[in-house]
Amino acid sequence: MLPSHAYPKLKKYSHLKGNYGTAWQNQQKEFENIPAPILFTTNCIMPVKENYKDRVFTTSIVSYPEIKHIDENKDFIQIINKAIELGGYQEDKKLTGINGGNTLTVGFGHNTVLKVAPKIIEAIKSGDLKHIFLVGGCDGAKPGRNYYTEFVKHTPKNTLILTLACGKYRFNDLNLGEINGIPRLLDMGQCNDAYSAIKIGVELAKALNCNINDLPLSFILSWYEQKAVCILLTLLYLGIKNIKLGPTLPAFVSPNVLNILVEKFNISTITTPVNDLNEILSK
Ligand code: SF4
Repeated sequence: MLPSHAYPKLKKYSHLKGNYGTAWQNQQKEFENIPAPILFTTNCIMPVKENYKDRVFTTSIVSYPEIKHIDENKDFIQIINKAIELGGYQEDKKLTGINGGNTLTVGFGHNTVLKVAPKIIEAIKSGDLKHIFLVGGCDGAKPGRNYYTEFVKHTPKNTLILTLACGKYRFNDLNLGEINGIPRLLDMGQCNDAYSAIKIGVELAKALNCNINDLPLSFILSWYEQKAVCILLTLLYLGIKNIKLGPTLPAFVSPNVLNILVEKFNISTITTPVNDLNEILSK
């Protein structure tokens, strides 16, 4: 699942697809028939099914009962041998994203995005760039999460979308074009990269001499489990307001907690993509 095509040494092998698979909830289905080993380096691992457990390895902070763990010496020979033994697909297979696209553009961590910050600031000032949306967070299997795909599809051409975490797999294969040479969809990475989004917001606010809440930047978040909730709490701690959260509110948000979140942070749940976009862009 890693954006391995962003790494130059892997990129030079044209037979490597780069990205395989989508969000966590599809693991059991997507791993079932691939003739290749799988290494978990971080993030959410689904219960490992019998029919592929001999091909799964973990390292670093991830581990799972009965699954081979690569220790801190990082000797990957077992995985390499497994890859050779399994042999890969006999014939080339066309793999696509959820929307049928087969190109992903990745690698927009804060260092990369901030390198083009002057261009972004110029585009904001000239009106070529009207708004930036951060659409990210966990994905999940329940209905209602298509909101995020539709939201992204409906965003006007003069807006940028920053994305990260599992939710992005719902729309990261869409070709949204560019604004002044900057791709409209900037993939910042996985959930752990929420730091990048925060950093970009803070640096843009500094450069434009305003508060982060005064930027033309909106957070449209999807949550599923505790890490997403930690990220949400971090954003609130930083005083970020007007976050839209979905697909539903976490169960622990009691009416009293919700009142505080609304009163202090103007947080709201998502409604429909068009309604929410109109509301945000009319401000
Ligand atoms: S985005 Fe959420 S579901 Fe995906 S790996 Fe991160 S914490 Fe897990």
